[in-house]
Amino acid sequence: MEIKVTKVEQSKLGSVDFDNLQFGRTFSDHMFVAEFENGEWKNFQIKPYSNFSISPASAALHYGQTIFEGLKAYRNKAEEVVLFRPEYNCQRLNDSAARMCMASIPEEIFMEGLRQLLKIDQEWVPRKPGSSLYIRPFMFADEEFLGVKPSSKYKFVIITSPASTYYAGAVKVKVEKKYVRAAEGGVGMAKNGGNYAASLYPAKLAQDQGFHQLVWTDSKTHEYIEEAGTMNIMAVINNVIITPSIEKLTVLKGKTRDTVLTLARAWGLSVEERPIRVEELKNAHENGTLEEVFGVGTAATVAPISLISIDDVSYDVPHLQEGLFSQKVAQYLTDLRLGLVEDENNWMQKAF
Ligand SMILES: *Cc1c(COP(=O)(O)O)cnc(C)c1O
Repeated sequence: MEIKVTKVEQSKLGSVDFDNLQFGRTFSDHMFVAEFENGEWKNFQIKPYSNFSISPASAALHYGQTIFEGLKAYRNKAEEVVLFRPEYNCQRLNDSAARMCMASIPEEIFMEGLRQLLKIDQEWVPRKPGSSLYIRPFMFADEEFLGVKPSSKYKFVIITSPASTYYAGAVKVKVEKKYVRAAEGGVGMAKNGGNYAASLYPAKLAQDQGFHQLVWTDSKTHEYIEEAGTMNIMAVINNVIITPSIEKLTVLKGKTRDTVLTLARAWGLSVEERPIRVEELKNAHENGTLEEVFGVGTAATVAPISLISIDDVSYDVPHLQEGLFSQKVAQYLTDLRLGLVEDENNWMQKAF
């Protein structure tokens, strides 16, 4: 596949303060763009990061045919730019695309576009420990037509944004029993824009009450937990790592979730993927067997939860002790990215 490259005349690198990066506000010099029309992907380009022109009648704007991914490029201790399981994100983008009735993107286009983009913008991968280049691949409908039907045209784009260490501290969450993120048969498994739009209002209500995030519950009974904000959720009760199963497609198939579960099993720990009742957390808290609760996702990797509010009662969760599983696994993943531990699962790869 041939990618037409147009480079910026003047890089913005010199004007970026890498010591004060705000998440998602600074973008690297270039972007990758591919277009889908008449049943095929074409016009592969790497060009200066810039605004698009989009038809006012695009189904992306009216009917939400738009999906995205999120992953990171890191610098290891040899100063190489490395990626962590990038094919997982391509596969999931295509799972999202299938559910939203959009075109699927061949892995070769996704990976080749990403690799060449990172090669050109490699100086944008920060060198500071803990920082990374956040990568945002996305796809949106691009046909000029107001009828409600799947678009026949799409754009696939990759933009990147340097990000500093994500440290938000421990998170306070509220178990949400009115609004839902996903229902069985709905689109919870897809990373489509509408899921995030729908979460903003209930999340704002929780923030106004002093919580950082919501714990979503199932749409039928509100008795089972599903996710923590835009992260998957895990708990350790009585030495068993438990997390909601993904088979009902209401819980997003997180790469970090899969990674953490794989590591836990390899380390000989007990893991259960199954429905988790809100009551179970409450009971475990009461009888002292609730060891930890945490969110997992690409942005934070692991976010310890310090407080859970259930029906307006707050429960403190252990989160600072030495030797917690969540801390151990977070440290392992940091070391893995730096190339300090052996990569037994072949998860890391050089970007170019
Ligand atoms: C992206 C996302 C996650 C985390 O997925 P990762 O692949 O681990 O980054 C979890 N839940 C939701 C709702 C998400 O959008």
